[in-house]
Amino acid sequence: MSICSEIVVVGGGQAGFQLVSSLRAHGFDGAVRLVCDEPSLPYQRPPLSKAFLSGEVFADELSFATAEFYRDESIDVIEDRAVAIDPARRTIRLASNAELGYDRLVLATGARNRRMSGFEDVAGVLSLRTLADAMELRERLLSEGNIVIVGGGFLGLEVASVCADLGVSVCVVEAMPRLMARGVSETVSQVFQQRLEERGVRFMLGVAGLGLRLDGRRVVGVEADGQLLKTNLVLTCIGIIANTELAAEAGLSTGNGILTDGYLRTTDPSIYAIGDCAAHPNPYCGATVRLESVQNAVDQANCVASGVVGEAQTYRSLPWFWTEQAGMKLQIAGISSTADPTIVRGDLQAGAFSIFHFHDQVLVSVESVNRPTDHMLARKILRSERKISPEALSEMLGPVAPSA
Ligand SMILES: Cc1cc2nc3c(=O)[nH]c(=O)nc-3n(C[C@H](O)[C@H](O)[C@H](O)COP(=O)(O)OP(=O)(O)OC[C@H]3O[C@@H](n4cnc5c(N)ncnc54)[C@H](O)[C@@H]3O)c2cc1C
Repeated sequence: MSICSEIVVVGGGQAGFQLVSSLRAHGFDGAVRLVCDEPSLPYQRPPLSKAFLSGEVFADELSFATAEFYRDESIDVIEDRAVAIDPARRTIRLASNAELGYDRLVLATGARNRRMSGFEDVAGVLSLRTLADAMELRERLLSEGNIVIVGGGFLGLEVASVCADLGVSVCVVEAMPRLMARGVSETVSQVFQQRLEERGVRFMLGVAGLGLRLDGRRVVGVEADGQLLKTNLVLTCIGIIANTELAAEAGLSTGNGILTDGYLRTTDPSIYAIGDCAAHPNPYCGATVRLESVQNAVDQANCVASGVVGEAQTYRSLPWFWTEQAGMKLQIAGISSTADPTIVRGDLQAGAFSIFHFHDQVLVSVESVNRPTDHMLARKILRSERKISPEALSEMLGPVAPSA
């Protein structure tokens, strides 16, 4: 039994698309409106730094669904930007000045890239979030033939890997002493660094002093710890900022994201927030966190859709994530703590292994490189919420080599 008849979703990204399609899949028969401020129908972002950038996938293959899908499902896609929410009247105002009423409003406004302060409008300094960004980046990579990437996280390294495959000379500059330091263990950092170096990617790690060399308002180089890396093309991959302004201006609580409760409701119970923009209490993290992944966007959308149509349920999905670089697929189940003692299974040198992380003798996360079966098993175990000790895991998996 549905609790409302009119739902407006702001943001046509992974979370917004999943929400509107899940509402229909769950049998919701009220009005569904999806407000999108990008010029194309909702599309997948992960290929932008992978198969789209490398030229294996084209723009028209990125859409989640065709225009017919939205028409057949009676999902009203409104190409506009939401500029204000009036929670008392339950309306939103669009940039076109149109007003939409709602029973339930879902904010799926995602995030935008953090830019290097003071260099936002410099020619040749790009960032990657949208299809338009990816198109520009690909064109410039092919014409320039070299690039400096600022930031050695998942995104920067995926782009570096594609650059190497395309024969584009690439140097990655990173402030931390190792790659993907926020998200993976030291072992995984080392394996990926080695594989990327073998493909020709150069790294400067632990860089404390970073600046751009300009000619007028055009970049001509990156200054890293006193060294000048000459280039006309710089990609900054230094994190994202949640799009919380719309919520904050409407009086909803925000912090590092739009704050939600366990049901993904904001401080106004008729307004939800999901995906990259939402900070939520996560049982696997034991804290309020904001996660940036496809899994999080999809599962939160499904949670809200089933709550709106049927009985409200708390969000309890296991976080998982993947990245593809240097011919390797890394899949992470759970949230890793790098200090945890580990068990390693497989072959590091061959680039096919899994690292099992424990906290207080309980399995909390698993990193798998080119071991999809381990990843699926890890998700099953972690989702079951059974407390698995190193001994129990060893028994389950058969003989394992202890980590060095
Ligand atoms: C290049 C790239 C590669 C990635 N690779 C991976 C990967 O390998 N694995 C993985 O798990 N995750 C990956 N991610 C992350 C993943 O894509 C995101 O976590 C996911 O897209 C989040 O979905 P979302 O709907 O919350 O936000 P978004 O996808 O950012 O969508 C939000 C949408 O809302 C729109 N919007 C914002 N404000 C308004 C407004 N006021 N009115 C109307 N519309 C508005 C935005 O323009 C945008 O279209 C990648 C991301 C990028 C950019």
